[in-house]
Amino acid sequence: MQEKTLILIKHDGVVRSLIGKILTRIENIGLKVIGMKMVWANEDLARNHYTLDEEWARKSFETTKKTHEREGKPFPHKNHMEFGSLIQSWNINFLREGPIIAIVAEGPHAIEIVRKIVGTTEPRQSPPGTIRGDFAMTESYELSDKNKRVLRNLIHASDSPKTAEREISLWFKPEELHDYQKELDKHF
Ligand code: UDP
Ligand code: MG
Repeated sequence: MQEKTLILIKHDGVVRSLIGKILTRIENIGLKVIGMKMVWANEDLARNHYTLDEEWARKSFETTKKTHEREGKPFPHKNHMEFGSLIQSWNINFLREGPIIAIVAEGPHAIEIVRKIVGTTEPRQSPPGTIRGDFAMTESYELSDKNKRVLRNLIHASDSPKTAEREISLWFKPEELHDYQKELDKHF
């Protein structure tokens, strides 16, 4: 039940002075920060973080296509791999735009509950009360397509135990993660 998850406050969150507000939400839900640093990622790190996974490309292609069709907007991409590699290259550029904050948070169901407070990929569809819904709701597929860039959605969070493990080891050395007790531990 105890899980660790990787959270990145992307550069848009840093320049909008949202580091403190986002951290507060992570602490408020009862999670413990066990690692944190500011990193300006190099090309290798960014590429390893956003690997081109075929399953991810297929899912993103379908979701994004559906959103476009629902609104009667043309969707110019031929297939999931062409779409996936374009998004991947835009993601790498975005991740390297400036320094970001990398965090490892630990606690019961950490992966699932952080995804819940983050919201949906497109901030416009993300409900109020979520990080993306509260701080970036004007951001949409429509805007990101028009400007030929990825959604600027403030935050990354691991989406499964397998990705959490891979992403944590990519961003943190074992000695950069800390084991300590907090008053709240006895309540969980
Ligand atoms: N992304 C995008 N358009 C898409 C799919 C993804 O701009 O159609 C960007 C967006 O910034 C997102 C990131 O790629 O946060 C990673 O995509 P993922 O599907 O993992 O979304 P997340 O887990 O961040 O909600
Ligand atoms: Mg993701």
